[in-house]
Amino acid sequence: MSQVMFPVAPVTVPVAGQNARFCVRRIFCVGRNYAAHVREMGGDPQRTPPVFFTKPADAILRDGADFPYPPRTENLHPEVELVVAIGLGGTNIAVSGALHHVVGYAVGNDWTRRDLQANAKRGGEPWDMAKAFDHSASLGPIHLTTDVGHPFAGTIQLSVNGQVRQSGDLSAMITSVPQLIAELSTYVCLQPGDLMYTGTPDGVSAVVPGDRVVCVIEGLGSLVNTVVEHL
Ligand code: MN
Repeated sequence: MSQVMFPVAPVTVPVAGQNARFCVRRIFCVGRNYAAHVREMGGDPQRTPPVFFTKPADAILRDGADFPYPPRTENLHPEVELVVAIGLGGTNIAVSGALHHVVGYAVGNDWTRRDLQANAKRGGEPWDMAKAFDHSASLGPIHLTTDVGHPFAGTIQLSVNGQVRQSGDLSAMITSVPQLIAELSTYVCLQPGDLMYTGTPDGVSAVVPGDRVVCVIEGLGSLVNTVVEHL
């Protein structure tokens, strides 16, 4: 009989300050959530509600790991983002109760093949190959809400080789974390282990092999990855 079962190890990330790990179920991402970034991408922040897309759980890349420059692109962009870790699932979650569903927060990097994304936008095609490729979801340790609360204001910054390229404030989100949770839960039943990348501020630009990319969010520490040649 041929083999049809291929057991896959669960994807887990460390929990800051705990001898525990967060088991990743699904990765949801939000596009167009900081007005200045919407404008730099050629959009109108007044007319663009948040758009949701996904990445596979095994696209997670851990803090400190090398990021292999992906194939099929000549314009790779990192995007620093606040990541929400869901601890309690639900559907049609009310904005007023949405924060009860959050177990923690982390610094994330939504790696993007910007050239493929531009092509997809032009052609009205899916973003998957622009966004959901191998290692495309960098993630730092999960900081529990019992330690850090809910960081809705504070600096969010990305630097490359020590030079700041993106610098914004979490308070500048167009759609807040509770509103995003409520909205996403009208599309899918959220589950414990789900992650939500909440969008990036302006200043996105290309990186190349050899670049050291450092993402920082006030209160959540840093996330460091070095871009290396694809083997
Ligand atoms: Mn993004």
